[in-house]
Amino acid sequence: MKDIAIVGGGPAGSICGERLASHGFNVTIFDERLAWEKPCGGGLTHKAIQAYPFLLNSGQPKRVVHTAELIAGNGRRARFDMSHPIVIYARKVLNGLLLDRAIVAGCSTICSRVTSVDTDGPRVRLTARGEVCQSDFVVVAAGARNRLLPETTALTADDLELTLGYFVPTEEDIIKVKFLKEFEGYLWSFPRADHLSVGICAKMGQSPTQQLRRHLDDFVLEENIPMDGAQFYSHVLPSPQAQTIRGRRIAGRNWAMAGDAAACVDPITGEGLYYALRSGDLLAQALIEGQLQSYPERLRAAFSADLEFAASIARRIFRGNFLGGAITTRMVQLLNWSPTFRDLIRDVFSGSQDYRTLKHRLFSQFGTTVLETMRTFFAPAGTLRSAFSKRSGPAL
Ligand SMILES: Cc1cc2nc3c(=O)[nH]c(=O)nc-3n(C[C@H](O)[C@H](O)[C@H](O)COP(=O)(O)OP(=O)(O)OC[C@H]3O[C@@H](n4cnc5c(N)ncnc54)[C@H](O)[C@@H]3O)c2cc1C
Repeated sequence: MKDIAIVGGGPAGSICGERLASHGFNVTIFDERLAWEKPCGGGLTHKAIQAYPFLLNSGQPKRVVHTAELIAGNGRRARFDMSHPIVIYARKVLNGLLLDRAIVAGCSTICSRVTSVDTDGPRVRLTARGEVCQSDFVVVAAGARNRLLPETTALTADDLELTLGYFVPTEEDIIKVKFLKEFEGYLWSFPRADHLSVGICAKMGQSPTQQLRRHLDDFVLEENIPMDGAQFYSHVLPSPQAQTIRGRRIAGRNWAMAGDAAACVDPITGEGLYYALRSGDLLAQALIEGQLQSYPERLRAAFSADLEFAASIARRIFRGNFLGGAITTRMVQLLNWSPTFRDLIRDVFSGSQDYRTLKHRLFSQFGTTVLETMRTFFAPAGTLRSAFSKRSGPAL
């Protein structure tokens, strides 16, 4: 196997290409737009920075954000410093950086849409620009919505989220995330080098688009975001169910998928950049070692078992109740009341706390959290008020 075609020059395809080309493979990356402003928050958590330090060290414009604010459905807020910063890129910049690295490693790029992939014969046949190109192997890293490979199932509405948002030319220093009552999704504002990505995501088919747009516009008003020059966007994002993560076919004799195409996205937070990079990287490693069959197992060991667990609790996190209030509202309150709980959320946010050990950590520190909550609760009035963020007021 020598010639590899990669469909999609996003994070998954670019890093896979970079790794393969540096090990002597002839790699061609096909992308219909190459580096473009894909609708995205653009936030990279600590695990991405740890695995790919060039994302922090690059000279490209980006914003390194240390502070986040969570807003509950009832308007209460909690602001906290994350244990590690989140690095936020405009996607055109990030994709350009990753594609440049792939090209330096030896990849060729073709700016064209691939309209068909045929994996039946001895060689893979791709159609792009009306011409048929052949390769020994094809990596499909073409995002959430592609039906290029009949050998696997496409992601259905149950595995997808709808996102709407705006790129707003203004500056901010903090990340904001707002939850809504009885709503599987959230609103966000992510500051980039010279603009914000503001948006809403929700399970596909659960809320009409008009309603999402209303929530988004309300959020923009509440947060006083100046909308002059704002550009609207909409896109889909995988939000895989546990059985999809566990059972969907992501590799065959002469093909494999990575990134969103393989549904490598956190079903709670929608984080996909790290998983796109890591899956592209792991696929390349499997191919370099001639161990393609081990690719799904490598993904499972690296992160997909954790994402499967996340999928099994996602609905409860967004819609569940705890002590008579929404879990997301309790989370905001506990952030203000308990330093121990705040530490936990700081780690969750910066991406250094996985889901499978989260439950154990929550239980093991439950007593301390209750004690700290009681202490704040029974503190003198002035102290209690100062425990809340300026705009929240007493939240009892
Ligand atoms: C609104 C929104 C906000 C998000 N915010 C964040 C965030 O803050 N942090 C985070 O970690 N993740 C976020 N994500 C998820 C993240 O954007 C994706 O997980 C990530 O881009 C996946 O990378 P990828 O390489 O798999 O696919 P993509 O980035 O989608 O790249 C696929 C590429 O394939 C190309 N392509 C598609 N079809 C074809 C074809 N037939 N022929 C040729 N080329 C083709 C496209 O042009 C594209 O460049 C967000 C997603 C959305 C929608």
